[in-house]
Amino acid sequence: MELIIQNATLLNQPGLHHIGVEHGRIVTIDTEIPVSAAARTLDLAGNCVVPYFIDSHFHLDSVLSLGNPRFNQSGTLFEGIEIWGELKAEISREEIVQRATQYCKWAIAQGIGAIRSHVDVSEKTLTTVEALLEVREAMKEFLTIQLVAFPQDGYLRVPGQDRLLARALDMGVDVVGGIPHGERTMADGAESIRQLCEIAAARGLRVDMHCDESDDPLSRHIEALAYHTQRLGLHGRVSASHLTSMHSMDHYYVSKLLTLMAEARIHAISNPLINITLQGRHDTYPKRRGITRIPEMLEKGINVSLGHDCVMDPWYAMGRADMLEVASMAWHLCQMTRPSQSEDVIEMITSRAAATLGIEDYQTEVGNPANFVVLQAQSAHDMLRLKPNRLYVIRNGKIIAQSAPQYSTVTLGDQVTEIDFNKEKGFATPSKATVFPIS
Ligand SMILES: [Zn+2]
Repeated sequence: MELIIQNATLLNQPGLHHIGVEHGRIVTIDTEIPVSAAARTLDLAGNCVVPYFIDSHFHLDSVLSLGNPRFNQSGTLFEGIEIWGELKAEISREEIVQRATQYCKWAIAQGIGAIRSHVDVSEKTLTTVEALLEVREAMKEFLTIQLVAFPQDGYLRVPGQDRLLARALDMGVDVVGGIPHGERTMADGAESIRQLCEIAAARGLRVDMHCDESDDPLSRHIEALAYHTQRLGLHGRVSASHLTSMHSMDHYYVSKLLTLMAEARIHAISNPLINITLQGRHDTYPKRRGITRIPEMLEKGINVSLGHDCVMDPWYAMGRADMLEVASMAWHLCQMTRPSQSEDVIEMITSRAAATLGIEDYQTEVGNPANFVVLQAQSAHDMLRLKPNRLYVIRNGKIIAQSAPQYSTVTLGDQVTEIDFNKEKGFATPSKATVFPIS
């Protein structure tokens, strides 16, 4: 065997495991494998292994453009769209490639192995599409990128969007996007959903729409999306991103809606960092959180995954490609405090996200690619609490990123104490920022 990974903790499986790797794939998982059988060993000393993190919703075309050409003063979704509109009219392919590639390196260092990125298809030049297709190809050995054709300014609202979206799909964009709440009327929003779902059905593609990203309790686009999904037999291939209006909807209506979503096997994608930042901006107090109803959807059997959405762009000035930060925010906003709910939250950035993107051979199982992220933690709860460094990121059996263990040195008078957060559960408070190993 090329490699044996020793003493790994696998989530939801008791004891420590050894994993044998040959030709980039997992060939055995056992409690004992003779070391002599391997060219190389890696002892994880009980640290956790997950296949990799998956970001279900991102925008690689606008990433790292913060302040260019100006900052978002109101903090709203709509001012963000205006600023991006000013930038995208002038932006070059090289600039997008450079920024997106930089972000992909951050993502890889943080253990992200797949990103579903929306790509704005509203400019005639489709520079954004050309750039992200180039990045998708350049990164494919290290990071899976799935692209969604996203008519940012409205599919029906702006003439000619149908041709641009079709051209983007012809060029190789993977998924059909939409923004029904950005159309002029609720009726136009529903019509855009009908047309876009029919395009996906005709081309055999998946759908992922920005859906009901508002605080409007009467926004009903998710109902139309669930309807057309079942009408066209797209069950399990359609995602609804954001769904923030569901936060404000009438409970009786939601009880019907969740049944429709479950029936159509819609994947819900929540973006907690951006939702808490952009939603509730028109409220006084109390201010709504704007997060969709994650625990209620899980309870109903609806698949839910999480996205970072934006990092350092006109909509979100923060972020460091850390899906544990995204997951931690979901844990807090949705009050998912029961022990089993920490595992649910981690699933939303791992196995549930794999289901959303349609990634097969994902799990840590014999025969699947040897993709592992090693974290300095021993449980889902501690992953969320500590957001620990990714000690190793392994792709097809090769180490592609590495970070030092996380600890701090505290000096109190003459006493110098080294705190290893991993070994001081419940006592230590992280005080040291993570430094990216890749610049
Ligand atoms: Zn988005």
